[in-house]
Amino acid sequence: MSQRNCPHVHDIREVTPSALGCEECLKIGSPWVHLRLCRTCGHVGCCDSSPNKHATKHFHATGHPIMEGYDPPEGWGWCYVDEAFVDLPDRTPQRGPIPRFV
Ligand SMILES: [Zn+2]
Ligand SMILES: [Zn+2]
Ligand SMILES: [Zn+2]
Repeated sequence: MSQRNCPHVHDIREVTPSALGCEECLKIGSPWVHLRLCRTCGHVGCCDSSPNKHATKHFHATGHPIMEGYDPPEGWGWCYVDEAFVDLPDRTPQRGPIPRFV
């Protein structure tokens, strides 16, 4: 993964995931494709290949820039502001098995 100049890497925090899967999709019973974890507040959302794109909606609602690829954590993140991949060596441990709707 290439790392461009992203100033937000200095704001990446250790977070506690808010849910085992996409928080909003779990509430409405919707499926998702991949999960994204907000490294500002711990919100768990779903990726842009998912029907509801909750991680992107979370960014637009909050401005939190960095989302970690999270199913399972793969050591990379995405900055929505710079549209760049960032390295996340301190990947967030998952709290439990990810619920799936297939
Ligand atoms: Zn950035
Ligand atoms: Zn979702
Ligand atoms: Zn957030």
